Amino acid sequence: MREYELVAGLETHIELSTKTKIFCGCTTAFGAQPNTNCCPICIGLPGTLPKLNEQVVRYAVMAGLATNCKINPVAKMDRKNYVYPDLPKAYQISEYDKPLCYEGWIELESGKKIRITRIHIEEDAGKLVHDRGDTYVDYNRGGVPLIEIVTEPDIRSIDEAREYVEKLQLIMKYIGVSDCKMQEGSLRCDVNISVRPKGTEKFGTRAEIKNMNSFTFMSKAMQYEFDRQVDLIESGEAVVQETRRYNDADGTTMSMRGKEDAQDYRYFREPDLVSIETDEKTIEEIRALLPELPHEKYRRYVTGYGLPAADAQLITKYRRVAEYFDEAAKGLQNPKTAANLIVGQMFRRFPTEAEKEEWAAGATAEQLRELVLLIESGKLKMNLAKSTLEKMLDTGKPVSELVSEEDMAGVDAGALEGICKEVLSNNPKAVGDFLGGKDAAIKSLLGGVMKATRGKADAVQAETLLRTLINQRK
Ligand code: ADP
Ligand code: MG
Ligand code: ZN
Repeated sequence: MREYELVAGLETHIELSTKTKIFCGCTTAFGAQPNTNCCPICIGLPGTLPKLNEQVVRYAVMAGLATNCKINPVAKMDRKNYVYPDLPKAYQISEYDKPLCYEGWIELESGKKIRITRIHIEEDAGKLVHDRGDTYVDYNRGGVPLIEIVTEPDIRSIDEAREYVEKLQLIMKYIGVSDCKMQEGSLRCDVNISVRPKGTEKFGTRAEIKNMNSFTFMSKAMQYEFDRQVDLIESGEAVVQETRRYNDADGTTMSMRGKEDAQDYRYFREPDLVSIETDEKTIEEIRALLPELPHEKYRRYVTGYGLPAADAQLITKYRRVAEYFDEAAKGLQNPKTAANLIVGQMFRRFPTEAEKEEWAAGATAEQLRELVLLIESGKLKMNLAKSTLEKMLDTGKPVSELVSEEDMAGVDAGALEGICKEVLSNNPKAVGDFLGGKDAAIKSLLGGVMKATRGKADAVQAETLLRTLINQRK
């Protein structure tokens, strides 16, 4: 069998976090009783007129700038006509030939750029709810502002697709235009897939899988679709250009409808809205609002602070953690210590992604900084610092209330030697084990010293001393 290569392009819909809808004043809040966040405009009553929410345009321009897009100085809205119960006007107001943003890219870890063809704004449709054989429609989501981000067919594997979506999601969360919650549908992907024999240039015929709302489904659907298309071609059949739906129950994709062409939608200019003009000055104003982006932070952490790549990645993955770390790192000689405490210690308290995202840290960034400053000045030994951090997180108290000057003074060398000797004579078994070649036994002896000094001793110093004393006994 020939080897095949996957080719994919993604169309990602992201709900913007504006307070109100794109063409009316209704709230965009999620989870309300069906059809309570609606008005004559967003349920499309005749005679109503849309009024474009300026914040939608600003957010979309922000999204474009953050993904290296050009901004169209004159964009316009168009009507995309189709008849389906989730769309009460029987057309969606979208953008066809003059989208707000175009020609951008997102860079993957490998350095490969996934080109973004365009980003346009549009209104979301309502939601169909199927229940015991009946179908209901909820128009609360109708008119919620969306951006649709379309890539070129640059993606060559499931991993690349996933990384692209993760990067896109993180950027959008950082700039604050969307919460990008896949499980609530505020980020949904349509995946266009084709296959071609490895080494050939010409693209194959594609199928589009609609509305992927989790990474797991997306991976499974892509794998199934790749295999399906390869099988068709290998058995001499043709791939049909169509829209397919992924069914999680059996992990397959199924044909929904033949692919619509643009002409099927009978696009025409939305006559009730004027063009959207964006001048250079406005673009620069919006650019100035962009925060430092995740990949920029990552680079600064690795090259500027010398953080290990894994730590830098974990910290930048959660915007609030990154901001917390940046605040704590101010004025530190070695921010690595702070990063280490965050990733190595604090993360354990937040096992789920949602908790890390939320980052209700217990200690303020300033309090963490105070702790690290004491470590840096040599006043606080690492082991005592770690147990103090636990207390800080439990109580919310600053380090100054939890460790006294006396604790910080540590244990002087003479006293430490006395304590070590005592621990050795009280634990003949561990000493025997150690002398018998079981190096790990030193840890239990060290534990004894720490207990006796209530954590005040310097662990490295104490361990060295223990080893010297035991070896003297040989
Ligand atoms: P339409 O507007 O009809 O949906 P587009 O040409 O705009 O079609 O493409 C939609 C998406 O499909 C884009 O993300 C694009 O990269 C992707 N795409 C186009 N051709 C192919 C192909 N042969 N294989 C995989 N993806 C493709
Ligand atoms: Mg499409
Ligand atoms: Zn409304």
